[in-house]
Amino acid sequence: MINIPKGTKDVLPDKSYKWQFVEKAACETAEIFNIKEIRTPVFEHTELFQRGVGETTDVVNKEMYTFEDKGGRSITLKPEGTAGAVRMFVENGLSSTPMPLKSYYITPCFRYERPQAGRLREFHQFGVEIFGAKSAETDAEVIFAASTFLEKLGINKTELQINSIGCRICRAEYNKALKDYFRPRLADMCETCRSRFDKNPLRMLDCKEERCKKITADAPKILDYLCEDCNTHFEKVKSLLSAQNVAFSVNSRIVRGLDYYTKTVFEFISTDIGAQGAVCAGGRYDNLVEELGGAPLPAIGFAAGIERLMLLMENTGADFGENKKPLIYIAGMDEISRSKAFSLTCGLRARGINAESDLMERSVKAQFKYADKLGAEYVAVIGANELEAGAANIKKMSDGSQTAVNFNEIYSYLIKEKN
Ligand code: ATP
Ligand code: MG
Repeated sequence: MINIPKGTKDVLPDKSYKWQFVEKAACETAEIFNIKEIRTPVFEHTELFQRGVGETTDVVNKEMYTFEDKGGRSITLKPEGTAGAVRMFVENGLSSTPMPLKSYYITPCFRYERPQAGRLREFHQFGVEIFGAKSAETDAEVIFAASTFLEKLGINKTELQINSIGCRICRAEYNKALKDYFRPRLADMCETCRSRFDKNPLRMLDCKEERCKKITADAPKILDYLCEDCNTHFEKVKSLLSAQNVAFSVNSRIVRGLDYYTKTVFEFISTDIGAQGAVCAGGRYDNLVEELGGAPLPAIGFAAGIERLMLLMENTGADFGENKKPLIYIAGMDEISRSKAFSLTCGLRARGINAESDLMERSVKAQFKYADKLGAEYVAVIGANELEAGAANIKKMSDGSQTAVNFNEIYSYLIKEKN
């Protein structure tokens, strides 16, 4: 017996409707916001993520599934969706299409992490990326798309936290201040933080170690260092959110786990699923398109972790819609009746009805039992008498009432009953 790899999960047939519910909410959200689907490969050249996600991030340093393929290339399973989306955008010359370009994806992601509730090695993201627009309205729109999605899932207890981490100009100033603050305290910080000090001190604010958290609590705040352009932008984003009555708080400690972010960053956080509270996160990345070989172009996006959202929905008793059941099960008493039941079932399906009949050569009693397990709303039994009469008794399972219906009128009977 070979088991499933650690940190991965099967979706069993009685649970897949929950996935479809979440994916449908994602697609419906995208449709309202006129965002088009994109699909990029599950694997890319390793260098894409090294350059795109950033060499100082945990994702690139510790978590990537990287291997050499038979042609000697270094390949990585995508740990997130943005880098691939940007590569697609640049490679296909999409900057010459009308801007903005609004895209979304639902994709598996792979990260070698310590599995726990809400943290897997293969997980799935619904992500949105908008290219070409630098206005504050774009930031607000991306946040609205995320909150619309959460609303559709019946998730209304998350907290939206936002921050601005500035642009190249203000970040340089801020990095200096951060270094001045951390330098005398460096000896008390973890090894990872010490290694980040030179390359990317901002990343130190993201450290999860207690001793480092204590030190970073009093570190200078990026918001005090924003340049005029970044400050105006951030103020405008906040006022656009307020104008639409979207509640948020400013959390100057949000820096996000990936290196490419600029200006607005945000997270939707839940307290109902324990430590892994971020269900949806994103931000602006105005330098990434250029860093990945395109002409400079602003962009912004978010990604929501589907497993984490489903965990949250389960914990809060949210509604996943219903697992579809057969409208009718047609049982057969003997060989000839079973054939008739089968052909009636085929006829109903051809007209769009979810109908079932026996494939297991079961006794009539066992067919009934199975129909009950399936939750069929109506059950008909066909035997010699029914064949002769050309009609079947259709039993409505919810109240036990029975109606004789001609074989060729079963469809219209069911349609009438349903309305
Ligand atoms: P965290 O701080 O929880 O590790 P992150 O900053 O690494 O999150 P992102 O890279 O921003 O996460 O990914 C976006 C979303 O994807 C997260 O908010 C989360 O919902 C989900 N996610 C990230 N890593 C995992 C994982 N290993 N398993 C399940 N979901 C994940
Ligand atoms: Mg992470």
